[in-house]
Amino acid sequence: MNRVYNFSAGPSMLPEAVLKQAQQEMLNYGDSGMSVMEMSHRSSVYQGIIDSAEQILRDIMQIPDNYKVLFLQGGASTQFAMIPLNLFNGSKRADYVNTGAWSKKAIKEAARYGAVNVIASSEDTTFNYIPTLDKDTFDKEADYFHITTNNTIYGTRYTELPDTAEVPLVGDMSSNILSEVYDVSKFGIIYAGAQKNMGPSGVTVVIIKEDLIGKAMPQTPTMLDYKMHAENGSMFNTPPTYAIYICKLVYEWVKNLGGVAAMQKINEEKANLLYDFLDASTLFKGTVVKKDRSLMNIPFVTGDKELDAIFVKEVQKQGMVNLKGHRSVGGMRASIYNAMPVEGVQALVDFMKKFEVDHK
Ligand SMILES: *Cc1c(COP(=O)(O)O)cnc(C)c1O
Repeated sequence: MNRVYNFSAGPSMLPEAVLKQAQQEMLNYGDSGMSVMEMSHRSSVYQGIIDSAEQILRDIMQIPDNYKVLFLQGGASTQFAMIPLNLFNGSKRADYVNTGAWSKKAIKEAARYGAVNVIASSEDTTFNYIPTLDKDTFDKEADYFHITTNNTIYGTRYTELPDTAEVPLVGDMSSNILSEVYDVSKFGIIYAGAQKNMGPSGVTVVIIKEDLIGKAMPQTPTMLDYKMHAENGSMFNTPPTYAIYICKLVYEWVKNLGGVAAMQKINEEKANLLYDFLDASTLFKGTVVKKDRSLMNIPFVTGDKELDAIFVKEVQKQGMVNLKGHRSVGGMRASIYNAMPVEGVQALVDFMKKFEVDHK
């Protein structure tokens, strides 16, 4: 069986070059005589791997020196609790924007620890747009302001960040980190599970401004205190060593391609291929308001559930898999993260054209 074009929302495709390098280094990393999987996290060889992962990520995201980079476990979902536990240290109030299922989970979790104010929502139309935000409605005393920069399930993204002034902006960037250029200094915290755009599941990257560290609520479990991880270089306990190593290879891959700006150009090209086709199609249509369309996750429908199901089945036979949409949107969803080559999107569009002709 050949490798397929995998349009999964996550875990998702990894660059083939990365998988091949991991394969080459599987039994013997460098001169160590062992696999990265078998290595002590306290060894100098492993220290080299995690240091270089951090350094390359700092380079490609231009992370300022007054930010820590942490490699943690528990997925982005653990951050839903870790953020309020660490940041509710003033008014114990936070502003959240509700743009979908992941935002809702973040809101629900934060509400266990403080007062959550949902300042805007797009739930009225199944989250197919990013609500317009009015600065005057922001709580100036809030401990932080939370957004989901890209909404994996609904296929929306912010094209402009809210201006939260002194209030730290917290971004769940799980599904679009490294896909487009962001100014890290606009954020207090950026967090992302690795399994969409960076590596395998098991590691979560947290980029946090130093002055937000060390003020956790007293009941915060040690493992959920950013301070413990920051002071110990993400080695307070055993980190997800192999997942971090794969992330390092992915960061190198992005860097070698020309960095995040170059990646963004390719992503725009890929997304436009599909969006241009959807806009011209007489059968398929995108579900998201144009101005808020994601570069990473593209939901679309035919308007006929049975035809959608036929499409998903037939496209799979062509080696394009995981195109079934999320149950809350229906239809199809193409997740075209960094690792999806242009050829994969072109193959999808070509098949959609053929399908459209066959089902006139
Ligand atoms: C996948 C995803 C999550 C959940 O990540 P886990 O690592 O499974 O906890 C959270 N937020 C967004 C935006 C996601 O895409």
